[in-house]
Amino acid sequence: MESAADKLDTVHANIARVCKPSRRKPEDVILIAVSKTHPVERITPLLDAGHRVFGENRVAEAQSKWPALREKYPDVELHLIGQLQSNKAEEAVELFDVIHSLDRPSLLKALVKAMDKTGRRVPCFVQVNIGDEEQKGGCPIAGLPEFLAKVREAGIPLAGLMCLPPSGTEPAPFFAFLAKLSKGNGLADEAAGLSMGMSGDYETAVQLGATHIRVGTALFGARG
Ligand SMILES: *Cc1c(COP(=O)(O)O)cnc(C)c1O
Repeated sequence: MESAADKLDTVHANIARVCKPSRRKPEDVILIAVSKTHPVERITPLLDAGHRVFGENRVAEAQSKWPALREKYPDVELHLIGQLQSNKAEEAVELFDVIHSLDRPSLLKALVKAMDKTGRRVPCFVQVNIGDEEQKGGCPIAGLPEFLAKVREAGIPLAGLMCLPPSGTEPAPFFAFLAKLSKGNGLADEAAGLSMGMSGDYETAVQLGATHIRVGTALFGARG
């Protein structure tokens, strides 16, 4: 069976391969190993292989796994990639180093309050509902300029834009559209991040400018 380190090498090699023709540097693409649903025993091999950037989609699950792992691996960087309820904002700010799912004014308010209270400044991606899907989280495309203005006004660190294209469709047009929304809204420097791409489409996402890819299955195998 392929080890965790082998899988990590494969993903890194794929990133490097697609970076070349796009004239991008592989080190400019941050690989977030999405460890949701996987127990600590499955995560440790990746940590021992030297990987440090991980993603979880639930605050409670992350709280049950990561404080102990961090005692042994203090330089871990933890990303929240799932939807966040406002009443969990303070716990999220205490535990995570980056939040990818800021998508509405009520959550912005809760995050500002949590950052003020804890003194921690956690960079946030604004999640965009890129396929305008009824049931999906994310700021509506039409409301993005206004919401970004609110985020800037609130003064919390803006990391960039995040999206999750509709499943079962060709993702490339959605990735290209997110990149266009970033440019069109004048996001620059630290705020120009693009969190897009998962196990099935991270190479496409890198070609279209992803700075953060969120990869679970390709590193950990299928979720139970
Ligand atoms: C689970 C999840 C991923 C990782 O998905 P894989 O297909 O397992 O790579 C990426 N992004 C988000 C938001 C997720 O919830």
